[in-house]
Amino acid sequence: MKVHVRHVGCRLNQSEIETMARQFIALGHDMTDDPSAADQIVVNTCAVTLDATRDSRKLIRSLYRANPSARIAVTGCYAQIAPDEINRLPGVQTVVGNLEKDRLVPAITGQILDPFEVEPVQRGEPPWIGRTRAFIKVQDGCDNACTFCVTTIARGQGRSRLIEEVVREIQLMLAAGYQEIVLTGVHLGSYGHDLGMVDGLRRLVETILTQTDAQRLRLSSLEPWDLNPDFFSLWSDRRLCPHLHLPLQSGCDATLRRMARRTTQQQFAALIDAARTQIDHPCITSDIIVGFPGETDTEFDESLRFVERMNFAGLHVFRYSARPGTAAARMRHHVSETVKRERSARMIALGQAGERAYALSQRDSVRPVLWEQVAGSSAEGFINIGYTDSYVRVSAVHPRPLTNLITLARLMMYDDQRQWMRVEPLIKG
Ligand code: SF4
Repeated sequence: MKVHVRHVGCRLNQSEIETMARQFIALGHDMTDDPSAADQIVVNTCAVTLDATRDSRKLIRSLYRANPSARIAVTGCYAQIAPDEINRLPGVQTVVGNLEKDRLVPAITGQILDPFEVEPVQRGEPPWIGRTRAFIKVQDGCDNACTFCVTTIARGQGRSRLIEEVVREIQLMLAAGYQEIVLTGVHLGSYGHDLGMVDGLRRLVETILTQTDAQRLRLSSLEPWDLNPDFFSLWSDRRLCPHLHLPLQSGCDATLRRMARRTTQQQFAALIDAARTQIDHPCITSDIIVGFPGETDTEFDESLRFVERMNFAGLHVFRYSARPGTAAARMRHHVSETVKRERSARMIALGQAGERAYALSQRDSVRPVLWEQVAGSSAEGFINIGYTDSYVRVSAVHPRPLTNLITLARLMMYDDQRQWMRVEPLIKG
């Protein structure tokens, strides 16, 4: 059977769909990049915002148009919270909620999957991914109750994978040629709490660094209240990438309280100070929601000023959208779309300025770059694109493709149009 897999949304969804692809391969099926050639299509959807549900529906419809005879199976957060809406879409034959998605591949194929019997990844670059970073899901679900968040409804309570299981998967990914490991989870910072570990994430990271040869280990999003200043001492091992994504959501304490976020301006600022003291020039990025119910002009200005003070190296900015079943959807004083758009534009501009300033702060330094793809070619050579350990997007023209290599490179100048740093790879020969 030929299978085409797609996802919408976060890295966790990406990690899950890549795991499903490996499971199909382990069971003897072929993956295809071309939906029109597929017998079976699997879509991992997102429901974090209204836009995400719209994108999920749009993707399913376009896949159906590309191949009306393929069977389409849909899973993910949107499938969990609105299975009936998905069932009505053309071509959809199977809808599986998040809590059942681990059994989706055996359910579709009718085959039993024993992950320990078959090496789940082929050697070389897996054709369905074309990526050099392996996203490893170590945790799912969340026990918090942020008032805007549909994730707890869609993904259930927090649950963690065993450390030895994660280490084994990482060893297999490294053996398959991946150069960077990214740990993901809905609420990564709570890793191990359900297994009785207070400092589970620390133990997980230490074990991975001790028991694997991973050259680059990166942590995805971490809720600020999960970290204590001592956590940053882990970065004394240079294989841990100096990149922290700490979702703030608002820089105004009153808004944070309505969001039920377990942090304040003061606590967040202290955490950032600790990170910058212990980690060498870290790249700290964040998520911000604008137009949360009741966010006045004064609150937004306070948020904007605080975000500016934090000097982030980049922002993901979301316009608040009411998600059914959440506490925030029932709050009063919803903000108009016009105001949300205007606030979003100001916050995005701040994020872009921060990204540029951080990249420029690394000019003339030499950093390891993982080359991820070739974007084209010129008379001088191939246009290679990659990321530094500090998550600066870089580009270099070189006589050969560098994809999936880690090389040192000197950061030269910022390309405002492409929003990347031009670098000189330091490669002999
Ligand atoms: S910490 Fe808050 S925003 Fe993050 S998944 Fe849990 S409830 Fe949602």
